[in-house]
Amino acid sequence: MPEPLLGHPRILPRSDHSISRAQISKNALNVLYGLHKAGFEACLVGGGVRDLLLGVTPKDFDVATSALPEQVRATFRNSRLIGRRFRLAHVHYGPEIIEVATYRASHDKAEDDADARLDGDRILRDNVYGTREEDVIRRDFTVNALYYRIEDFSLIDHVGALEDIAARRLRTIGEPEARYREDPVRMLRAVRLAAKLDLTIEAVTEAPLFELGYLLETVPQARLFDEAVKLLLSGHGVRSYELLSHYRLLDYLFPLESGALAPERERLIRAALANTDQRVAAGLPVTPSFLLAVMLWEPLQETMARQLVQGVSEHQAFIAAQEAVLRSQADLLAVPKRFTLPAAEIWALQSRLQRRRQPGRLLGHPRFRAAFDFLALRAQYDPDLQPTVDFWGARQEQEGAVVAEPASDDERGSDGAPPRRRRRRRGGRRRRGQGEAAASASAAP
Ligand code: ATP
Ligand code: MG
Repeated sequence: MPEPLLGHPRILPRSDHSISRAQISKNALNVLYGLHKAGFEACLVGGGVRDLLLGVTPKDFDVATSALPEQVRATFRNSRLIGRRFRLAHVHYGPEIIEVATYRASHDKAEDDADARLDGDRILRDNVYGTREEDVIRRDFTVNALYYRIEDFSLIDHVGALEDIAARRLRTIGEPEARYREDPVRMLRAVRLAAKLDLTIEAVTEAPLFELGYLLETVPQARLFDEAVKLLLSGHGVRSYELLSHYRLLDYLFPLESGALAPERERLIRAALANTDQRVAAGLPVTPSFLLAVMLWEPLQETMARQLVQGVSEHQAFIAAQEAVLRSQADLLAVPKRFTLPAAEIWALQSRLQRRRQPGRLLGHPRFRAAFDFLALRAQYDPDLQPTVDFWGARQEQEGAVVAEPASDDERGSDGAPPRRRRRRRGGRRRRGQGEAAASASAAP
């Protein structure tokens, strides 16, 4: 579909906008100046500019330039070229990476090019370089398409982005349905940006979201996993979840049959997400494992119940249900094993916590804390679990006292299990080297 030609851009000189260099990372500025000095146009673009104008601290700063990737590579010794679908340069400054993208043309121009074919409506490769005007219209939403040009510190708006920012409105560039068909992940990005920045999704941009969820089935599961993590684990999980559910997009990310989501299940998920949001706000670490355990808990219970009816043992039912649920999840999102394994451990520990046997060993289990937190979350909606939560709460307090007095070594076994090793490292120095070797071996990827 040919895009309408862009009108004249609105160019705000430095005196007419609020973005100042003091708000931009030193390293991003260094990249912008470096490219400019080498004779290229260089702009800050995307989420960084958008967030600054909305009064939010940007997560990172993206640079767009007229320089080709090889020219960027040649300009910065500390740079590397990456990516196949999009060829990008990464300029490294210690832990900070500045991503530099060459201006690219939209798929219309790409269509004639052997390098960038379309599969139906979908863009497969996108490496046809172009002008800034062309770069604008391949971006997803107007608010993501502002350019802050280093040469004169001006802000360039080709698509009415400034009005949308002022109205806190999310609008696709071009016809929404076509843009979602080109890349269905844009639907998830719409939800994420609306949730994160409290934007209203403008009506025409919003309408197809209710209808086009099924397009997500064509997106590689690994890319969907990345998006799901950004949606739910970046500090605005509750709002993202509500919007995903509202637009009927949740079913394409989790095997939840959300249309029939039982109120208790919904409450459990919301409580976990609220907790995650609080942790993010407090700067505490969060992991997909815990959330995965929560999201799939009810499907696990249902599958297990069906197994038990067939007369298998509880253990067999659990193993079969766990496999089935993780398999149906894997059909939707490619969740790496380093997250599914801990989630399965959290599940397995639920019944062990309820049995209350060998408390000393359980307390030292690497997943004890997560499993306990999960149990406490469940107890909010299942009062029968509260005595078990109280029991383990008290045990942990006692353990706290024990840890402070390393001499006493309670009911830990002598089988060299991880908890014992950890314990020794706290108490006596004797086996430290050995413990560390074991710990780092098990942490190796
Ligand atoms: P965040 O705050 O999460 O970084 P962002 O909008 O900067 O948000 P990025 O993934 O860093 O997200 O993308 C940078 C820019 O690239 C976007 O602002 C947008 O202009 C463009 N972009 C990213 N993904 C797409 C997409 N799927 N389709 C079109 N343009 C995209
Ligand atoms: Mg960004």
